[in-house]
Amino acid sequence: MVHKLIIIGSGPAGYTAALYAGRANLRPLMIDGGLGRGQELQGAGGQLMLTTEVENYPGFEHGITGPELMKVMRKQALRFDVDVVEDLVTKVDLSERPFKVWVEDDLYQAQTIIIATGATAKWIGLPEERPVWEGGLGGAGISACATCDGFFFKNKAVAVVGGGDTAMEEAIYLTNHASKVTVIHRRDVLRASKIMQDRAFKNPKIDFVWDSAVERVHDPIAKKLSGLTLRNLKTDEASELEVQGLFVAIGHRPNTDVFLGQLEVDANGYLKTTHDVRTSRYAVFAAGDVQDHEYRQAITAAGSGCMAAIQAERLLEAEGAKGIVGTPTEW
Ligand code: FAD
Ligand code: NAP
Repeated sequence: MVHKLIIIGSGPAGYTAALYAGRANLRPLMIDGGLGRGQELQGAGGQLMLTTEVENYPGFEHGITGPELMKVMRKQALRFDVDVVEDLVTKVDLSERPFKVWVEDDLYQAQTIIIATGATAKWIGLPEERPVWEGGLGGAGISACATCDGFFFKNKAVAVVGGGDTAMEEAIYLTNHASKVTVIHRRDVLRASKIMQDRAFKNPKIDFVWDSAVERVHDPIAKKLSGLTLRNLKTDEASELEVQGLFVAIGHRPNTDVFLGQLEVDANGYLKTTHDVRTSRYAVFAAGDVQDHEYRQAITAAGSGCMAAIQAERLLEAEGAKGIVGTPTEW
């Protein structure tokens, strides 16, 4: 059987694409990422499964938890004709249509594809980074997204780990809310661009702790972050830092491994797309964080998922009208 559309991934981008494609009678097949694999790959629902309060997704006046929001999105999408495979895509062949998508040995084929596999925030590897319901402080003091969670730290002291542009951007953004921001970097020089370094150095609310790593986070038992134990990597001295929030800002990894070599990616591995979410391959679209390292928000991911589904529908309709078959090299 050749599907009209396969959607890979089930975060806000994937579910929104499924909702639109289902309502457009494309009867899409969604391969949803399957069971969670921890913070490396979150499984069905995507990154918001790792967080607690989401206050900036429109339509929820009093906010909603991430897992609840994703449950509602899934239910809304599956009201329409959407088939779901609860697993991970392990291999694809996008060289010609019908495109081939494998989940281990099972082969699925489609005329169009929407890739919505998102990105994964990199974590330091501390046990306290696990979500609060798994005994950690993730979503209860530890975050990987200042735009999402900075608001919860009004007039509080927070720390940011990292020395790249992401860390500087997060630190500067957090000064809008926090009383003080301490950047903890493992070396004594930043990797960030000069302009971002200058902005951070000039900001009176930002302090730096150099050559240091976070060794322990207090206090998961109290379910509240109250401070950090730092280790100076040159002198081996330990020190305490009193903060109420920890933002890990050491970068993101786009979930593009299975597409490498078949689609164009940028220098950081994100899928290259046009303004109308077309990838470098005819009839293959990409939506959400897998192609957007700039905004990385649920609403922008959902918006581009909607665009991708509308584009897939239009392409199939135009092909039907014009009698196009095969896989043109340009589009
Ligand atoms: P994702 O949500 O990353 O979903 C990707 C999906 O693809 C997952 O289901 C994954 O399992 C699946 N997948 C990956 N690889 C494969 C594969 N090979 N085969 C099949 N499926 C695959 N944004 C906000 O707007 N507000 C917030 O408050 C907020 N808080 C956040 C808190 C945290 C801790 C984090 C990490 C992010 C937060 N964000 C927030 C950002 C938001 O979660 C992302 O921007 C959004 O989830 C991106 O959606 P997406 O659909 O592109 O990808
Ligand atoms: P990055 O440039 O790779 O920087 C990651 C930083 O985190 C580095 O300072 C690194 O330390 C540190 N780090 C990595 N792993 C760590 C660990 N396990 N423990 C502690 N520290 C760790 O990533 P990025 O900052 O996300 O930037 C990625 C790309 O996006 C860059 O090209 C950047 O310019 C771009 N970007 C641009 C902007 C902007 O212009 N406004 C904003 C965000 C991102 P070391 O330095 O010691 O390696």
